[in-house]
Amino acid sequence: MRAVTVKPGQANSLSLVEDQPEPASEEGAVLVEALAVGICGTDHEIIAGDYGEAPPGADRLVIGHESLGRVLDDPTGTLQPGDLVAGIVRHPDPVPCPNCAVGEWDMCRNGRYTEHGIKALPGFARDRWRIEPEFAVKLDPALAQVGVLLEPTSVVAKAWDHIERIGHRAEWQPQTVLVTGAGPIGLLAALLGAQRGLTVHVLDRATDGPKPELVAGLGATYHAVPVNDLPFEPDVVIECTGAPTVVLDVMCKAAPNGIVCLAGVSSGGRSIDFDAGALNRALVLENNVVFGSVNANRRHWNMAAQALTRADQVWLSSLITRRVPVNRYADAYTAGPDDIKVVLEFAS
Ligand code: BGC
Repeated sequence: MRAVTVKPGQANSLSLVEDQPEPASEEGAVLVEALAVGICGTDHEIIAGDYGEAPPGADRLVIGHESLGRVLDDPTGTLQPGDLVAGIVRHPDPVPCPNCAVGEWDMCRNGRYTEHGIKALPGFARDRWRIEPEFAVKLDPALAQVGVLLEPTSVVAKAWDHIERIGHRAEWQPQTVLVTGAGPIGLLAALLGAQRGLTVHVLDRATDGPKPELVAGLGATYHAVPVNDLPFEPDVVIECTGAPTVVLDVMCKAAPNGIVCLAGVSSGGRSIDFDAGALNRALVLENNVVFGSVNANRRHWNMAAQALTRADQVWLSSLITRRVPVNRYADAYTAGPDDIKVVLEFAS
């Protein structure tokens, strides 16, 4: 069968293997036929050789962690053939740490977790994959076109879950959310904000292309100005650019009692001059919280599945700006100027 693979640590080693062995039975009881795999910044980092780890004993890693597939067989009877499923990305560490022990692998303490298509577990960009039923999330059949967005939605469902938990440290009535970065994560974070009835603002550099219209489609306001020029102070910020100046600016911009969730991963290596004392003063005197958020546990995947079911399917479809057959995988992994989400299609 076909599989999209890389040699981790080696730049530009991406290749389509045609004779990949069928998934081993130890990978899980549920056999799934791949339908689609979404591509994100992490895949580009892995392809550049900056991130990623092959499974023990292997030198290549099958990539792809944003999945959608159809169940072919589940001898445990948990799922039925034909069910639409996505595979949960992260698996708990073997120790396990206190968080992994209770299913909170997204909060793993010792870093020994594994991740499909990223860290020591084969990914989903192959014709068939296997997974244990407790790591498969069943999707509403109506999500056949957009279910591949479940993984990025799980990431923002976790971000929102933690924002709300932090918010409830005191009386909390948020009204305004600012999302920085109108890529897939930012747009899905904005969707979940709109579903909560909040006033949503999205800031991005782009002045044309599909982003302004996608934001308007949520009933949200689009801004292509520096953070400091925004005429309001948000109660919640979800930072999805990882751009150092934007990160610092939003920390200073949040309203009193504001919560800033950092969900964008910076590449590092660039220094900027900034007044750490002024930032400390602003955070302390306004009870502000800044926190990081990555990955998602099963509860968040279930929340994400509900959010996608509630969302406008046409709007969700328009986030997928390119669908590329797996045989043209190199095109799919080459970023285009108007890409939001690019999806690799496996359907035969
Ligand atoms: C994935 C997460 C993962 C993270 C770090 C992200 O692209 O969405 O599930 O934990 O990369 O590897």
